[in-house]
Amino acid sequence: MIGSFRYRPATGAHDPLHSRALVLDDGTETVAIAVVDSCYIPRETVDAAKRLAHAETGIPTDRVLIAATHTHTAPPPAPGVGLRGPEPEQDTRNEQRYTRQLIDGIAASIAGAFERLEPAEIGWARTELPDEVFNRRWFMKEGTIPADPFGGTTDRVRMNPPAASPDLVRPSGPVDPEAAVLSIRTAAKKPLAVLANYSLHYVGNIPAGLVSADYFGEFSLAIASRLDAGERFVGMLSNGTSGNINNIDFSKPRSRREPFEQVRKVAGKLADAVAKAVAGIEYRPDASLAMEQVELALARRKPTRPILEQSRTVLQGVRPSELTRRHIYAQRAIDLHDGPDSVSVVLQAIRISDLGIAALPFETFVETGLAIKRDSPLQATFVISLANGAEGYLPTPEHHVLGGYETWLGTSRVEAQASEKIREQLLAALHKVATGEN
Ligand SMILES: [Zn+2]
Repeated sequence: MIGSFRYRPATGAHDPLHSRALVLDDGTETVAIAVVDSCYIPRETVDAAKRLAHAETGIPTDRVLIAATHTHTAPPPAPGVGLRGPEPEQDTRNEQRYTRQLIDGIAASIAGAFERLEPAEIGWARTELPDEVFNRRWFMKEGTIPADPFGGTTDRVRMNPPAASPDLVRPSGPVDPEAAVLSIRTAAKKPLAVLANYSLHYVGNIPAGLVSADYFGEFSLAIASRLDAGERFVGMLSNGTSGNINNIDFSKPRSRREPFEQVRKVAGKLADAVAKAVAGIEYRPDASLAMEQVELALARRKPTRPILEQSRTVLQGVRPSELTRRHIYAQRAIDLHDGPDSVSVVLQAIRISDLGIAALPFETFVETGLAIKRDSPLQATFVISLANGAEGYLPTPEHHVLGGYETWLGTSRVEAQASEKIREQLLAALHKVATGEN
């Protein structure tokens, strides 16, 4: 499994991983959205799934949005991205097999939704669940922040500080309490699908070795039961802008909980809030669709000469199975040095009636999501992160100055101005799809 700095072989599955898909067609435009139980999905894997889905349905690849939920208890989504254990060749074979299954599964979910198109009504709503989201980057008392993995001591904020520590000063940013929902029902007014969006990294506290879809999977079950939906119903929970947001209230001591207790609690509360919002929706049978995809080139960050040399020294004589955080960052610095100077990222804007959806391939900071929601020309807008690729964290320029985990070279791989450029492009794309609103 990935999503940790330790090698974590899976010993079993607590619950299945899914690709959940929604296909919308207004008679002119067809749009597919798939939400996948994965920590992230790199561009090559996503693109392979889009090509396969296109071959099976005819939906153009630039009308397909594929996003990862960000569960931290799923297998690696591409060959070579996971840590290596005592049998590295076996790890590589497993990654190759799983990647194939992932690509086929995502395409099959889109093809399945496409085959099941039927006359439907659509609507959306917004509600709030403020008490399960916390900003995880804190200002700390002077001199209490540990060194970064390159030995630097310039961080002014700490990610996931010790809870209830006397050294805590204040969180370094806001939260987004919003739970947004797009709801679809049949012409006979039976629930057909729900696509929810909430800005929470994940919940976790899952026993070692167990594969799980985390609270994203649990939400899908919970919302189906709250809506008393039938077997054909698909409930989906997409990740909003949660790069700096998690489920831990750092102001209080952390309470011990049973495995999956918190997953079920958060999923249940969110399902309750979403179901209540769905009950107030006014559906329309004639909503129109529009979608815009653009590619944006961003400069890749590069290590300085001293960091590069230090990284090479750190890795001398270390075996792949002995890697610690310091080695992992040294390797990431070298990879960035050796890699291309720029990366092209896919950005998407979708309009469904007067609702906007923006999508970007990053672990996005909440400030960016709040700004897009505020400045969008549409009635309401939500943002799906880790969509159509995965290029690491996307701190704002202000947060790059503050430092901390999400800004370290290797956790963040694109230029410090990237979030500003992306926000501008996404808003321009939202303006484009907003014209002809129906
Ligand atoms: Zn993450």
